[in-house]
Formats: sequence, structure tokens, C-alpha cells
Amino acid sequence: MAKIGMKTPLVEMDGDEMTRVLWRWIKEILIEPYVDLKTEYYDLGLPERDRTEDKVTAESALATKRLGVAVKCATITPNAQRVEEYNLKSMWKSPNGTIRRILDGTVFRAPVLVDGISPYLPGWKKPIVLARHAYGDIYNNVETRADAGDSVYLVVCGKDGKEKSRKLIHGFEGDGIVQGVHNTDDSVKSFARSCFAYALENNLPVWLGAKDTISKTYDHRFKDIFAQIYEEEFKDKFEAAGIYYMYTLIDDVVARIVRSDGGVLWACKNYDGDVMSDMVATAYGSLGMMSSVLVSPDKKYEFEAAHGTVTRHYYKWQKGEETSTNSVATIWAWTGALAKRGELDDIPELTAFAKRLERATVTTIEEGFMTGDLVPLFKKEGVTPHKCESREFLYKIAEKLQ
Ligand code: NAP
Ligand code: MG
Repeated sequence: MAKIGMKTPLVEMDGDEMTRVLWRWIKEILIEPYVDLKTEYYDLGLPERDRTEDKVTAESALATKRLGVAVKCATITPNAQRVEEYNLKSMWKSPNGTIRRILDGTVFRAPVLVDGISPYLPGWKKPIVLARHAYGDIYNNVETRADAGDSVYLVVCGKDGKEKSRKLIHGFEGDGIVQGVHNTDDSVKSFARSCFAYALENNLPVWLGAKDTISKTYDHRFKDIFAQIYEEEFKDKFEAAGIYYMYTLIDDVVARIVRSDGGVLWACKNYDGDVMSDMVATAYGSLGMMSSVLVSPDKKYEFEAAHGTVTRHYYKWQKGEETSTNSVATIWAWTGALAKRGELDDIPELTAFAKRLERATVTTIEEGFMTGDLVPLFKKEGVTPHKCESREFLYKIAEKLQ
């Protein structure tokens, strides 16, 4: 059978440790036999980031701006221990952070659902897609300790440096702490646009939660901006598609999410997204089943797995021991990218292949062949789960694909 051709190359961002090992195998076993794969390759593995003084990361993000679709392997974000382990010149920043800054994107995380692996909340029948606003709030904060007797003010100076306003935050009678956070209208606007565009593309309603009753200026701004962008740019399209946008208090959203059967896009402020994405991922079963895509306001896509480089498995693999690392989320990164490329370049066979690979993966698990993380979660009448070694799982999928 002739291989499926491609027009525009994918931006391929290689990564680290166990996911780097899986990366090569996924290409070799599941993609290259069927697709005449075209990629522009960037090695974001830590040694190469160190050698290029992290230029390769920025270059890969710029390539994504140019070509439109990237697929990324998990990468190490170095800490002090990694600086020593890899003898690094510097403690390089998180590649995901760098890429996000350049693309100005929003991260959407969605679980891969399989019959036989039930979420901890059995009512969740459809995926909950979580969108995290990845700018500002406590992640770009300024904070300090205050001593007894200190008065702390919020002071605003205009362009000319002259004081425009001054509000007392607190007059401290005893020792305490204080924090300043910010966000920008532009960032919240692009977050809103990314959420609405993604929802439209995937036919999902959008729920936004914040605490505008308490935070009458700050959180209220999120509510107002979302409402404005929705009214002006999306309302008609949403109504035509039969979906809707809803704002409600964050506590109410949490309650509604728990009661829902899924199938919504949950737009979260930065901290809510950080915390709730871990809860949602865990509730669906395994980190190995959580896919992720960064979408920029000008519709550039970067697909990846939501998990990290699975270090503990890598150290075992290095010693020649057997591993059973779940490759599903990384396969989804590839299928997401290939399907999007097929759609943009009008190659329906490519998109169809990606969907076929997804179905083959799901069927493989549903028939009882899976990695170790899924075995204790799997419950299906008449099917006994069999734990596959990392590479064996990919061969099982390949059999299905044929
Ligand atoms: P992790 O790599 O996600 O792994 C944490 C644990 O979760 C693993 O030890 C494993 O549990 C389980 N797990 C995660 N993915 C799995 C999979 N595909 N199959 C089976 N089990 C899986 O997180 P981490 O250990 O905190 O971080 C490791 C490195 O990844 C760090 O250097 C961090 O900087 C990086 N990281 C990168 C990204 C990214 O590039 N997007 C995201 C997060 C972390 P068991 O050991 O119990 O089997
Ligand atoms: Mg988190």
C-alpha cells in the first residue's frame, strides 16, 4: 500500500527521558510505515537545549508560528538536581513556558476515554476539556512580608510617574504577608477567543467560573471581557452550532462539573486551572491518558501529552529493565497534529489515518492489552487485562491498525 503523502511539514519537538524513547518507537512502529512523514525537527532534549543555550526552544516556537502545527515530546524543566545530573551551563526555563510566551496560547487538556476504564466520578461519560489561562495572577506575583506597624498600599503611577491613586491594603498590627497580582485585558481577551474558538471547533459549551462577587474589579474583569467577546464575535456562531456560553461563580462551576456528565469546556483562571486540571486528570484515571494542546489566538497548534518525561521508568529502562509506560497521550499528540495538518492542507487520508490510529489504540485497550498503570483501573465483563511492556503495547496497536 502506498504511504500517505504530506504537504507542509509538522514541527517536531523531541524531548527527554522515557518519553523520548517512546517518541522514536511511536514513529517507527505506528506512523512511518503508513505516512511519508515530513517534519522540521527540533531537538528540545536537555543536552541540546544546553548546547544551544536554549535557542532551539525559541526556534521551534517560531517554526510553529510559521508552519502552524507542532507535535511536542515531554521535556525536563531543570531544577538544581538536573543542573548537576546534566552538568548544565544554566538552569534553563521551562520549554513549555517559553513556547507559550512566544505563541501566546491557551492550553486545553482532554482525557482519552476508553470503555472499561471508568472515571472516579461514574457520571462523567464525556470528556471535560479544561482550559487554563496561563498568564498572570499569582504566577507573576510580587509578594513580601510585612512587620507589625507597617502600612501597605496599592499605588498606581501614570506614564509621567505621578501618583494617580493610593489605597490602603492593610495596616499591620502584627507581622503578616502581602501579595500583588495583575492581569492584562489583552491576555484575558486572547484567552476568551481561544476558548470560544476551540469550543466551536469541538462543539462544546463553555463554562467560565470566577469570584466576581468578592473580587468586584479583578475577577469581574474576566467576566466582562468574556461576555463582550462572546456577544461581539461568537454568539451567532454558537447559537448556530447549538452550544452556549455560561458564566457562574467558581464554586458553582465546581459543583456543576461534579454533577455533569462531561462534554464541556471549562475555562479556568490560572490558579484554578493549575489545581483543577490535576483533579480532573486523576479523576479520569491515569496521567498517561491525558492529552493536551496549546492553541494560539491566531490558530497555531502545539500538541503534546499532559504528563512529564516519566523519569522513574527511564532510569529502569536505562538499566535494561522492563518498563510498561503508557504511550497513549503521546500517540494522541501525534494523531492530533497529523489530523490538524490533514485538515489544513486538505489531505483527508491523513486525517482519516490519525482517527484510525486513535481507534486502534482504544480498541487495543478495550480488548485487554494495556500498560501497567491501567491494569488496576480496568474492569470489563469477559475481558482480563494483560499488562504489556512499553514496546509490546505499540506492536499490539500496530496489529489492530493493520
Ligand atoms: P511525570 O513524568 O508525569 O511522572 C510522574 C509519575 O506519574 C510517574 O512516575 C508515573 O508513576 C506516572 N506517569 C506519568 N506519565 C505516565 C505514563 N505515560 N505512563 C505510566 N505512568 C505515568 O512527572 P514528574 O515525575 O513530576 O516529572 C518528570 C519530569 O518531567 C520532570 O523533569 C519535569 O520537569 C518534566 N515534566 C514535563 C512536562 C512537559 O514537558 N509537558 C510536564 C510535567 C513534567 P509511577 O512512577 O508510579 O509509575
Ligand atoms: Mg497543577
